[in-house]
Amino acid sequence: MLYLVGTPIGNMGDISPRAVEVLSSADVILCEDTRVTGLLLSDLGISGKKLISYHEHNKASRADMALDLLGQDINVVQVSDAGMPVISDPGEDLVRIAADAGFEVTCIPGPTAAMTAAALSGIDARYIHFEGFLPSTGAARKDRIDKLCGIEDTIVLYEAPHRIQKLCEELCDAGLGGRKAAFCRELTKKFEEVVRATVAEVKDHFDQKPPKGEFVVVIEGASGDRSDGTVMDLGKEEELKDFLLSQDLPVKSVAKALSIVTGRSKNDIYKDLIQ
Ligand code: SAM
Repeated sequence: MLYLVGTPIGNMGDISPRAVEVLSSADVILCEDTRVTGLLLSDLGISGKKLISYHEHNKASRADMALDLLGQDINVVQVSDAGMPVISDPGEDLVRIAADAGFEVTCIPGPTAAMTAAALSGIDARYIHFEGFLPSTGAARKDRIDKLCGIEDTIVLYEAPHRIQKLCEELCDAGLGGRKAAFCRELTKKFEEVVRATVAEVKDHFDQKPPKGEFVVVIEGASGDRSDGTVMDLGKEEELKDFLLSQDLPVKSVAKALSIVTGRSKNDIYKDLIQ
């Protein structure tokens, strides 16, 4: 049988007894990085297992090998470095190929960062669009972000820490600054933290305190966004700005008010106002 086994996303206490049992009795364990899985097994006191790397670049040849092993009645386990195999991680092809060849496939579920974040976000979790990783740069990235604007369901995506500030900026540029969001970092770990605010406010937050650690980003979908993703008409924004300034309000308050209605970053508006 082929077993997919979910492993902790940061807290070893989250490994399930069934995961330990299956890992202990596995004949062969396919893993992304044999060093990472080696450490997991040693933490669990499991030794003497055959670890074989399985990743994007060798998945075709490794799938042939797995079929061969399954054909000899050898139990094969597949794990990723952390969390659920297949979810923004390798394994999908293996499941399909093994199932198509008539082998039994089962899953010992474990934590996944996406659903942990969705649960913690405080944002509507009835309908969820799981985006995974956006393309890292270029037109493909911009195109995906533009598509996200129209998605009605709550959006859950993974992003590398060094791109979190860039992402906030891109989301604001795409008109999503006013959406509710939860930026969830280091889930299940010592420095777990959830920043719940609008995207524009989160951008301000990270401009002051640069992000560190692993992140899942949860963003309110278009149906939960009263402005429906549309950017305020520029003429109206100018009119509102002139009105607010004529009321002798502090510039910071004007920036905050404009940020709420336009979804743009408060800091960026403030900088424009004092120029
Ligand atoms: N398969 C994994 C799962 O089930 O969650 C996801 C693997 S994906 C390659 C790794 C990404 O998941 C990280 O870049 C980060 O965005 C997110 N992630 C994983 N662990 C996390 C954690 N403890 N806290 C926040 N995000 C995490």
